[in-house]
Amino acid sequence: MCGIFGYLGNKNSIKACLNGLKLLEYRGYDSAGIATIKNGSLINFKASGKLISLEKKINIKNLNLDLAIGHTRWATHGAANEKNAHPHLDEMKNVAIVHNGIIENYDILKKDLQSKGVKFRSETDSEVIAQLIFKNYKKNLLDATLKTLKEVKGSLAIVVIHKNHPHEIVAATRESPLAIGFDDKKNEFIISSDPNAFSGRNLNVIFLKNNEIAHIKKNDLIVINLRKQKVHKKFEKLNSKNLIFSKKGFEHFLLKEIFDQPLTIQKAYLGRAIEDKGQVEFEHLNFTKKFLSKIDNIIVTACGTSYHASLIAKAYFEDQANIRTSAEIASEMRFKNLLITKNTLVIAISQSGETADTMAALKAAKAKGAKTLSIVNVQNSTISRFTDESIFLKAGPERSVCSTKAFSSQITVLYLFAIYLARLRDMKKREAILFLKELKKIPLKIRKVLKISSLINEQAKKYAKFDSFFFLGRNLMYPTAMEAALKLKEISYLNANAYPAGEMKHGPLALISNKLPVIAFCSNEKTYDKMLSSLMEAKARGAPILAFATKNSYGIEDIADDVIWLEKTTDELAIFPSSVAAQLFAYYVAKIRKTDIDQPRNLAKSVTVE
Ligand code: GLU
Repeated sequence: MCGIFGYLGNKNSIKACLNGLKLLEYRGYDSAGIATIKNGSLINFKASGKLISLEKKINIKNLNLDLAIGHTRWATHGAANEKNAHPHLDEMKNVAIVHNGIIENYDILKKDLQSKGVKFRSETDSEVIAQLIFKNYKKNLLDATLKTLKEVKGSLAIVVIHKNHPHEIVAATRESPLAIGFDDKKNEFIISSDPNAFSGRNLNVIFLKNNEIAHIKKNDLIVINLRKQKVHKKFEKLNSKNLIFSKKGFEHFLLKEIFDQPLTIQKAYLGRAIEDKGQVEFEHLNFTKKFLSKIDNIIVTACGTSYHASLIAKAYFEDQANIRTSAEIASEMRFKNLLITKNTLVIAISQSGETADTMAALKAAKAKGAKTLSIVNVQNSTISRFTDESIFLKAGPERSVCSTKAFSSQITVLYLFAIYLARLRDMKKREAILFLKELKKIPLKIRKVLKISSLINEQAKKYAKFDSFFFLGRNLMYPTAMEAALKLKEISYLNANAYPAGEMKHGPLALISNKLPVIAFCSNEKTYDKMLSSLMEAKARGAPILAFATKNSYGIEDIADDVIWLEKTTDELAIFPSSVAAQLFAYYVAKIRKTDIDQPRNLAKSVTVE
């Protein structure tokens, strides 16, 4: 995870780093740090917690230097404190590094160095990189980094400086994204783990690939591989828009993003659905019609919220297009015997397009010859560049760690893709028109959920006193319940267990009591009666019940203690109003619980370690 930012140029490098790190803080906020070189010595600023604590420690005015490297951390090895914050220095304070990833053999390397008397300051795996570069240094920083890269195992993106080289930066990567942006005259270089941090700049950008090392000096950039051969890198012109992050009057980014959804769903839909023709089109989707019509097996892989979208996708592809589909948790997928044929399509879903587990699953699938498609929000992201084809969500930047609008855009795109595939098979035009028309009404139905946010807040006040919850649903309301439970866990830190309602009687019912409320998702007609029976069983054992149900549904009022009424739509699309209502419920519970809603503890937005 973590955000890396390096700057070499004629502007104030510390200021540039602080501004860059602000755009990367979503990648980790356990600690932050910046290192630079002044009068032949390394200066290192570090602070635990968010970037703001680091900012308070630095007096920028006295430090008008042209080179600096910075880091925001998501701890993997060692507590989230100042000592473990990056940049890390070698024992003699000659080398400073920032690192994203995990050094898998750090323990052996560290013990070896310690046995030779080297003193370590932190508990991190990363510090070993700085110590090794120092050990390997013979007046050439590039050579020392190259040698070190051969010694360390695992994933990494590193940026390195040395006190004897005040005008040089070395950067290297393996299994971890790193982009270098520069102006035409190469007067200014920016190195970042996410090109979005080039905000507002028109730069030439190269992306370092596995085991490539960049040597950056004023007016000069070379890239080499592990065999020390020069690599010719093609650059892309990236006109990145000024990223302006505003809560638009909302108290939190999360609430703003929940309220963004009628618009973001429309953006995912418009230009792709041609309702009167019952057709769907995707821009730049270059799979051949022959391949698309022959797909007989789809594997959808993702993590977290995107995995819940995969479960919904499985139902869409199987029900609409009659294509056998499996949804796979990405971190598990690459350890399975993947049954891939020439008619298999592997779809990876990721908001950031940087999720390391999803990337690993994709690599395993590609190695077996799979055709790959990514559904991501961030253009130019690692996953979108790796897959054969991509569909973008167009949801705009999602700032809150807890995903909301990206999820509803994923569901929109997946639904459209299911119809697209179905139309290449036996779905009739008339049928497709009906499906598309229903989807078009979703933004309006979500607006109606947003209008009752104060009612949902009232329910949150009632239920926020409990510490543990069951979230139940059946059919498509089961993944809906899973996603709703995840929202509550992430931002309110409460225990929320999602279960298919019918499974309760096979074990978990033993946990039910008047201290364990059930949050019930009842908006699937196909399983509605069965859902009522499951809820009766929970009620008979004393569970308080809050139900999210479709307006005018019979019977639920007699069973549930409280009901939030939602707009009617089809079973396939009921996830939209139900999950938006659940997002609001989680938000208000978290607010009452006074948690850090936009940056919940222990989490980060873009999960770039496996
Ligand atoms: N493994 C390193 C650490 O725990 C880097 C983590 C990161 O990528 O933020 O410090």
